[in-house]
Amino acid sequence: MARAAIYPGSFDPLTNGHLAIIQRGLKLVDRLVVAVANNPSKSPLFTVDERKAFIAEAFQDDPHVEVDSFDGLLVDYARRKGIHTVLRGLRAVSDFEYEFQLANMNRSLLPDFETVFVMTGEDYFYVSARLVREVATFGGDVSRFVPANVLAGLARKLAGRRPGRR
Ligand code: ADP
Repeated sequence: MARAAIYPGSFDPLTNGHLAIIQRGLKLVDRLVVAVANNPSKSPLFTVDERKAFIAEAFQDDPHVEVDSFDGLLVDYARRKGIHTVLRGLRAVSDFEYEFQLANMNRSLLPDFETVFVMTGEDYFYVSARLVREVATFGGDVSRFVPANVLAGLARKLAGRRPGRR
């Protein structure tokens, strides 16, 4: 039977850190559903469709990667998909406590739910979508941290939005 996992996240936007986790996750499973969480309360920079498009463009030739989105609880989405394994990335120690809580909460909501962690390489352990957004908003160069399509998307989105400009 094909092994499948869901890789959920905000992906606002996709970073090279996410890409590394996806590539490493693909060594463990045959099918990876990258699922963009629709959480409007986080006031995302990119819409769900824009975030999905960045991921789909990065993996357009890879039949093992599927791009989707979900609202509400991850365990409900996992149940609907019939995939009870979730992939998450770990960066520094700071990720650990939150991820530990999340993994345990999810397992208490759905008993056969399993979270698999992949640790990021040293190249990306300080890269987060939030920092990329912040640095890009203030005009900093994030080209080393995001794929080219995201870099172009950030330039489009932030044009005319630089702080201090109207
Ligand atoms: P972020 O924390 O970057 O805003 P997400 O909510 O989209 O991102 O994160 C989805 C998952 O990807 C989480 O498990 C997060 O820890 C992981 N992740 C994000 N960036 C990296 C990175 N640079 N290295 C390893 N894992 C990462």
